[in-house]
Amino acid sequence: MKAAYFKEHGGAEKILYDDYRDPVAEAGEVVVRVRACALNHVDMLLLDGRFPPPEGLPHVNGCEVTGTVESLGPGVAGLERGQRVIIFPGFSCGRCEYCLRGERTVCVRYGYLGAAKDGGYAELVKAPAANILPLPEAISFEAGAAVPLAKAECRPGQTVLVQAAGSGVGSAAIQIARLCGARVMTTVGSDDKIDFARGLGAEHVVNYRTQDFVEEARRWTGKRGVDIVVEHIGGETFERSVLALTRLGTLVTIGSHDTHWGRLDLRHVYSKNLRVLGTNLGSVLELGTILEHLVAGRLQAVVDRVFPLRDARAAVQHVLDRKNRGKVLLVP
Ligand SMILES: [Zn+2]
Repeated sequence: MKAAYFKEHGGAEKILYDDYRDPVAEAGEVVVRVRACALNHVDMLLLDGRFPPPEGLPHVNGCEVTGTVESLGPGVAGLERGQRVIIFPGFSCGRCEYCLRGERTVCVRYGYLGAAKDGGYAELVKAPAANILPLPEAISFEAGAAVPLAKAECRPGQTVLVQAAGSGVGSAAIQIARLCGARVMTTVGSDDKIDFARGLGAEHVVNYRTQDFVEEARRWTGKRGVDIVVEHIGGETFERSVLALTRLGTLVTIGSHDTHWGRLDLRHVYSKNLRVLGTNLGSVLELGTILEHLVAGRLQAVVDRVFPLRDARAAVQHVLDRKNRGKVLLVP
């Protein structure tokens, strides 16, 4: 098969488009013919070596995949060749303490499609059958791959600050918070993304390059501060996000796109009884719920641009340049 892979760490220029070993479905696994694969920020960390692929190089990125069932490994039932599917990207063992508690996303042997294993920047990809969900006819392959993979723990009327509306996590979090009935403010890095952010449902949009988001959060809430910040940048954004919270507020950390590190002013955390909540991914069940919301039109997949797989290098550069508003997709 053809794949866009890399054998050295670096920037977009390290991505090669060429022949690559075909995946073979072993017991309990399914090979999927990729119809669309979204770029995710974790791909950039795998590429540049901040998060080296556990199985080494060469490696194929791509964790958000839709396609059709190509072949079934021994013992797989309930799926048919040609069936339209979406892959839930989190792998868990099903046997450890956390899996048995039902907390599969913190499995001690947890791994992601496109990180622990080769992913979807390819014509074919394989995954455990347990990770394969039918993709409803009403959802296109492109929309399915751009599905907002985020979970929300907010309530109607709460105020939420979502960092970086233009990113996949940001655009999903804004919509999901709105779906919960929360009020949302968000940040963008350029004024031409303001209308896009408003269109997703953000009430107040701040350009973080020219405005101070902490000041703006205070102003927007009448000096109170917001109930929830959804933070996925790291560094100074993480550090300052805590200052935007009101008492009993929650800082949700769901990624570290700029840096894995962030300082915390502990005085704010204990004196305001704040919570810092880490989260990686929803569950298979939550993905099912999100698909239902998509079918019903309550959520929109936000597709920025579709690139042919052979142009993966350009697609990655587009994301590294932060030009995207929503998801960037590769289509073989
Ligand atoms: Zn486990």
